Amino acid sequence: MNIRDSELVAGLLIKKGYELAAIEKEADIVLVNTCSVRQHAEDRVWSEIGKLKKRKKLTGKPIIGLIGCMAQAWQQAVFDKAPMVDLVVGPNNISAIPGLLDDLEAGFGRAIAVGKEQRDAFVYNTEYISDKSHCNVNIMEGCNNFCSYCIVPFVRGRERSRDAEEIIKEINSLVKKGVKEITLLGQNVNSYKSQDTSHKTQGKDKSVSFVELLDMVNAINGLEKFDFVTSHPKDANIALFEKMAELNKCRKFLHLPVQSGSDRILKKMNRGYTVAHYKKLAKAAKEIIPGLRLGTDVMVGFPSESEKDFADTYQLMQEIKFEAAYLFKYSPRLYTKAAELKDDVSEEIKKARHKILLDYQRQSHKKKE
Ligand code: SF4
Repeated sequence: MNIRDSELVAGLLIKKGYELAAIEKEADIVLVNTCSVRQHAEDRVWSEIGKLKKRKKLTGKPIIGLIGCMAQAWQQAVFDKAPMVDLVVGPNNISAIPGLLDDLEAGFGRAIAVGKEQRDAFVYNTEYISDKSHCNVNIMEGCNNFCSYCIVPFVRGRERSRDAEEIIKEINSLVKKGVKEITLLGQNVNSYKSQDTSHKTQGKDKSVSFVELLDMVNAINGLEKFDFVTSHPKDANIALFEKMAELNKCRKFLHLPVQSGSDRILKKMNRGYTVAHYKKLAKAAKEIIPGLRLGTDVMVGFPSESEKDFADTYQLMQEIKFEAAYLFKYSPRLYTKAAELKDDVSEEIKKARHKILLDYQRQSHKKKE
């Protein structure tokens, strides 16, 4: 999602006459597009900004902007933590960046834009893509799920679906530029729903579901392949799997984050499904979609995760045999419910559990090769 957001920002600036610098040292403006989802990601951002300090002290350049989810989470406090930052812009405020840079270059001091509920639709009419062979396309923004460990609903806002017509228009224009493959992006794509004004029935707009959107994407001339992330196990269903099996351009890859193999932990995470439900879904998906590759996310060290909870997660991974697994260590995030719980699994144990799952996943991959 951040890769696409960076392209959107670059596109907005190129339209205003800016050029992309070949290397950071040559840049007059450096915008750091940030992720807040784990502490590790935030730590890296502060360290990157710290590296710019020396040049800025010597030459007064570059203008430094911190944009994206950390900007929304930290807001004004960014300037206290990193006084060399000039610009702070949240993910829904990116359309303000060109104007704010004008102000900064005119010497108006620091600039901040955060808290907008929704992006301006025009940000998606970008002329800039970094990779012509594959492009990401946002179909929705934000999330309503409030998983207890997750900062996304607080920084990206409530769930909004983009208009189906707009999405199709965007993909058509990408295809004209030579893009052959796309990934549809959303925090929870299975709850996508838009009012498509091109399908008016008896004076009423027809609502377009995610499965219907997949049909529309599959029908685009010149597009060769597409996939989508991320599906939520409480919303993914048989209709989706059947559609994936049916559509010739749809990659047979499903990213279905399980997070934990323990019902007790899933409940504390507010994930809205049980391990039994997840297993049933995974089994159905594999049966219905020939050649399916199943991916997942797993988090270790959520507050109170016991040896037994972890053993259940390990067992689930052995049972389902994911083709891809993104493994994370829990870290408390600002604003979240889980941050009120005691972070009582030590870093050492988190590391050890993370390593066990990583080793398992690597080994099972090797065996498959
Ligand atoms: S579904 Fe849960 S983990 Fe995913 S973005 Fe929404 S709140 Fe975060």
